[in-house]
Amino acid sequence: MEKLRIAIQKSGRLSEDSLALIKECGIKITNGMRTLKSDALNFPLEFLFLRDDDIPGYVEDGVADVGIVGENVWYETGREVDVAKPLGFSKCRLSLAVPKHVEYTGIEDLQGANIATSYPKILGDYLSKRGVEAQLHVISGSVEIAPSIGLADAICDIVSSGSTLFMNGLKEVETIFSSQAVMIRNRQLSQAKQEILERLLFRINAVQKGQKNKYILLNAPQKSLEEIIRILPGMRSPTVLPLAEEGWNSVHSVIQEDEFWEVIDQLKAAGAEGILVVPIEKMIL
Ligand code: ATP
Ligand code: ZN
Repeated sequence: MEKLRIAIQKSGRLSEDSLALIKECGIKITNGMRTLKSDALNFPLEFLFLRDDDIPGYVEDGVADVGIVGENVWYETGREVDVAKPLGFSKCRLSLAVPKHVEYTGIEDLQGANIATSYPKILGDYLSKRGVEAQLHVISGSVEIAPSIGLADAICDIVSSGSTLFMNGLKEVETIFSSQAVMIRNRQLSQAKQEILERLLFRINAVQKGQKNKYILLNAPQKSLEEIIRILPGMRSPTVLPLAEEGWNSVHSVIQEDEFWEVIDQLKAAGAEGILVVPIEKMIL
């Protein structure tokens, strides 16, 4: 039977969350990540564990059918692959930073500067769009020390908290790219592989929707039942069950995490009591 081959980072910031997502999709892996290749036990999926930088190339060549990488790596490698789905984890940004004491007024200040980076394509595209010409020094790691050793006037690197920059006497001056993990895919998948990919994406959607929504249960007095139902969005319409106590109902529905507090306040004001909010594992609409 045909299998879909997925490339995942062997170890690093993407690997744990990638595997957690696979697990949430109910897919079990035979022998973990100690080997280069593993099979899924209960899904037509085969895993390749690789360095993240190599994944777009393998997906383009068809050695792997799909892969999980940061958008930064996808863009930087410039490989002919498509993004099948943003995955919402490993969020980070690529920023320009200069020594703390340097007065920075705008991107034109970097005209003619030496900039150290591991992302020459993303940075090059960004600068040329703004008419800035600079010399890019491509280094693969410890980019943040380049200014202190006299190699560069500025750097462009991945930032999460900014503490690495601070420790190296740098300040962040521009964000040039925002990134999250994405599922990339080969452009010529067979019909059979395409179908497996769709099954996988269906499960990922269900997991993601579950994470974005909460199940809510509450007790509503009969007199405010209509108002409470109006406040609750729900998937179709809320479930209403009578309580043993006369004049009261139990109302069940689904609400989005980001509108949660606002809705709770409205529900309380409308007379709802005993509000329970529970996580949803998966959601299929
Ligand atoms: P490899 O050994 O596979 O080449 P690496 O050292 O290049 O690994 P990691 O540091 O594991 O890469 O980062 C992998 C990806 O995770 C990055 O390309 C980026 O998309 C994302 N990432 C990097 N730093 C952070 C961070 N601080 N927070 C969240 N995501 C990050
Ligand atoms: Zn890497």
